[in-house]
This record gives sequence, C-alpha cells and structure tokens, in this order.
Amino acid sequence: MPSQLTQLAYYSSFDSDQGADLDAILKSAHVHNSKNFITGALWLYKKYFIQVLEGERKKVSETYHRICQDARHSDVVLVGCVDIMARDFDNWWMAYVMDTPQNLDLILKYSCTNKIAPEKLTHERIVQLLLNAQKK
Ligand code: FAD
Repeated sequence: MPSQLTQLAYYSSFDSDQGADLDAILKSAHVHNSKNFITGALWLYKKYFIQVLEGERKKVSETYHRICQDARHSDVVLVGCVDIMARDFDNWWMAYVMDTPQNLDLILKYSCTNKIAPEKLTHERIVQLLLNAQKK
C-alpha cells in the first residue's frame, strides 16, 4: 500500500531581538527535507514562524518533532495535521516566503486586519496564505 501523504501546519515564536538565523534553518531544512521527500513553505512574520510540512506521514511526524525540539524558536503550536491526496508545495523542499510589503494584501485577505494573528488562522488559511504568498 502506498504511504499516506500528510500535511501539517504550525506556528511558533522566536526572540525578534535576537533575530532568526534563517539561512542556517533553511539550509538544514533543504538537506533533511530533500532526503525525506518533505515539501512545504516557511514564513518568518514579525516574531512568528509559520510553516507547512507535507510528505509521508511518518517522515512529517519525525520532522515536526525534531523542529519542536529546536531552541531557535519556542511555543510551537500545532494548527492542523490532515491526510492529503496530493502535495500543495510540490516544487519546494522548503519555500521561504518573504515578509514583503507586497504580501500585505494577502495578510489583509486572510486575517481581516493589517497583521497576522497566527492563533486566528486555521490550517486551510495557513496553507492558502503560504501558497499565495510564495507565488508572488
Ligand atoms: P542538528 O543540526 O545536528 O542540531 C541538533 C539540535 O541543535 C537541533 O535539533 C537544534 O535544536 C539545535 N540547533 C542546530 N543548529 C542550531 C543553531 N544554529 N542554534 C541553536 N540551536 C541549533 N528541519 C528539517 O529537517 N526540515 C524543516 O522543514 C525544518 N524547518 C525548520 C523550521 C524552523 C522554524 C526551525 C527553527 C527549524 C527547522 N528545521 C527543519 C531544523 C530542525 O529543527 C533541526 O535543526 C534539523 O532538522 C536538524 O536536525 P538534527 O537532529 O540533524 O540536528
């Protein structure tokens, strides 16, 4: 039986005064995700990371648990984890979504305000937000 594809969305916080070592995080994500056939997208927004991971269920689970242990962020909140038929981010081991002014209209669309409150976003909205933002 083929392995079940799963998609997971979470958000977490980091200390914005310290900054995030984004290059190192993305490098590590690319190395591990390409080995594990994990795809997805990551947005660093203000003091939040918002990320979607997708791939074989067990690999997504292992990757998520590894990410949760990472001291470079904290307060990791799982928003959703669902079985999927096909990947949404199939071209990206880990797309990075730039926090640009051009994404403001998307933030407005998905949050009904001029800033994202991750606790108000559903799994589906996070996926749509990251998909649309990374296409820009
Ligand atoms: P190693 O690289 O050997 O590191 C061991 C532990 O040390 C890590 O678990 C981490 O907690 C910590 N660590 C590593 N580098 C640093 C550093 N520069 N500063 C402080 N602590 C550090 N990994 C993926 O595989 N796929 C992803 O999509 C992914 N996305 C991530 C998104 C975010 C927001 C963050 C913060 C991390 C992400 N990572 C991702 C990295 C992940 O947390 C692990 O560091 C990585 O998977 C390597 O695991 P490892 O066991 O080989 O750890």
